[in-house]
Amino acid sequence: MSTFLKVILQNLAKGPSTIKYPFEDSPAPEKLRGKIAHDPEKCVACRMCEYVCAGGAIRIQDTEDNKGINFVVWHNSCTFCGLCEYYCPTGAIHMTNDYHTAHPQEEKYDYCEKTCVNKALCARCGEPILPLPPKMIKKVYGEEGDVKGLSKLCPKCRRKAVWEDVVR
Ligand code: SF4
Ligand code: SF4
Repeated sequence: MSTFLKVILQNLAKGPSTIKYPFEDSPAPEKLRGKIAHDPEKCVACRMCEYVCAGGAIRIQDTEDNKGINFVVWHNSCTFCGLCEYYCPTGAIHMTNDYHTAHPQEEKYDYCEKTCVNKALCARCGEPILPLPPKMIKKVYGEEGDVKGLSKLCPKCRRKAVWEDVVR
């Protein structure tokens, strides 16, 4: 039997080596740099991701009523560099392995990840604040930080509380 025929028979026995994408799902490697996902529960709106973003894809703005922070990532501007994930101090932003970026032209201005980080009121002065996640409080003020309720205070009242504690 010729080599050519052998190859044909082997390939027939093995079955198709390709996937009928987009008619069936195509698996992506776990570490593929795909679309960005943002978790508003972990975000402290420090703007680090916006600052380092290579594609200028991230916009962070106060909501009109100042009760929260609008967080937008434009998928079309993202260069999948991963800097936002690398520099985020709380792990609130990360790259998924979702590579499905095709979309109709008329959806291009809506093709983004939109979330809202809700503000709370400072437990002392009542100013709208973004409560610090316990992980960050622990990092800055040590294990005791959140026991004293520092995460529920604005930066000014937090400094005051720490100072009062030192004086005591
Ligand atoms: S996602 Fe991370 S880096 Fe970006 S504003 Fe939120 S906490 Fe800061
Ligand atoms: S992966 Fe890079 S370009 Fe995309 S949002 Fe993050 S920092 Fe910006």
